[in-house]
Amino acid sequence: MPKTPEDIIRDEIRSLTAYHVPDSAGMVKLDAMENPYRLPPALRERLARLLEQAPLNRYPDPAAGELKAQLRRAFEVPDGMALLLGNGSDELIQMLIMAAAKPGAVVLGVEPSFVMFRMIATFAGARYAGVDLRDDFSLDIERVLAAIERERPAVVFIAYPNNPTGNLFDAGLVERLIDAAPGPVVVDEAYSAFAGASFMERLPRHPNLLVMRTLSKLGLAGIRLGVLTGAPRWLGELDKLRLPYNVNTLTQIVAREVLQHGDVLTEQAAAIKLERGRLLQALQQVPGVTAYRSDANFILFRVRQAEHVFDGLKQRGVLIKSLHGSHRLLADCLRVTVGTPDENAAFLTALTRTLAA
Ligand SMILES: *Cc1c(COP(=O)(O)O)cnc(C)c1O
Repeated sequence: MPKTPEDIIRDEIRSLTAYHVPDSAGMVKLDAMENPYRLPPALRERLARLLEQAPLNRYPDPAAGELKAQLRRAFEVPDGMALLLGNGSDELIQMLIMAAAKPGAVVLGVEPSFVMFRMIATFAGARYAGVDLRDDFSLDIERVLAAIERERPAVVFIAYPNNPTGNLFDAGLVERLIDAAPGPVVVDEAYSAFAGASFMERLPRHPNLLVMRTLSKLGLAGIRLGVLTGAPRWLGELDKLRLPYNVNTLTQIVAREVLQHGDVLTEQAAAIKLERGRLLQALQQVPGVTAYRSDANFILFRVRQAEHVFDGLKQRGVLIKSLHGSHRLLADCLRVTVGTPDENAAFLTALTRTLAA
């Protein structure tokens, strides 16, 4: 008898639902924390010429030495630390968990946080232990320390700032967590450009600390480039299970050229931060809305009927993210990415109309 998927595929995979990416054609797209701004025309033309000359018949540069040197400078990686590049930081999370997923291994994180920590742990056959945040989304350090003691996690993930709540955890508490963890702690800094706080300079002080960055939220979501930094003795092991050529030639060319004009991305991030302040203020003035302050490029807010508001916005052409039902602390919560001034205005108009309807 030929085997069926029920015979072959692991139970925990069959019971998953695939990560759902909604169709956004024609919508004001404020659901995925993308930078709303494109690159300046002159830089795009320069990229077109570079891509025209790209040797696409050849495999990519496997070491990407020059790109790594640029990233090291751009992210101010301390001397002596190694860099590992991924096809987005999602792939780096996958490499680390795959490498550490011994039978019975536990991956620990806080809840609510970035869903891929839990999903990738499940893919790799590791058990995910989530420790709830406090009601104000701060770190419940006593519970985290107790969970570390109980679970002895192989790996810990902390998003800093946290997604989807948008806040930075108290750095002193995160340091206590790092010192208590038996294995590596990844501080995922996907939103560092909007936060003005980082664990990067603390790398030399904590031998089990790894800091992760990505170009996705900075304005290059389409090229898929993530960076993990930390002690060479950790990253050297992970590099062994990196698939050869995981960072393609087009990505390498674009990243190198854009990083040479890094001020473009920094200026766009500054504009987004400014808009974030305006959007927060506007949201806080909408009756029936509780908006939380954010250190990232999105804002979490609570309404009375999240599903109704989400649908109303969608009908009016604005796509955001509903988090209702994903965690107790996120009941009736929605998350909006900070867009251009026009997009944010369209969102606010659609929101007030939906709430008035
Ligand atoms: C968006 C996001 C990522 C994923 O980044 P990619 O580099 O695009 O894979 C990682 N971590 C957090 C917390 C995120 O919000």
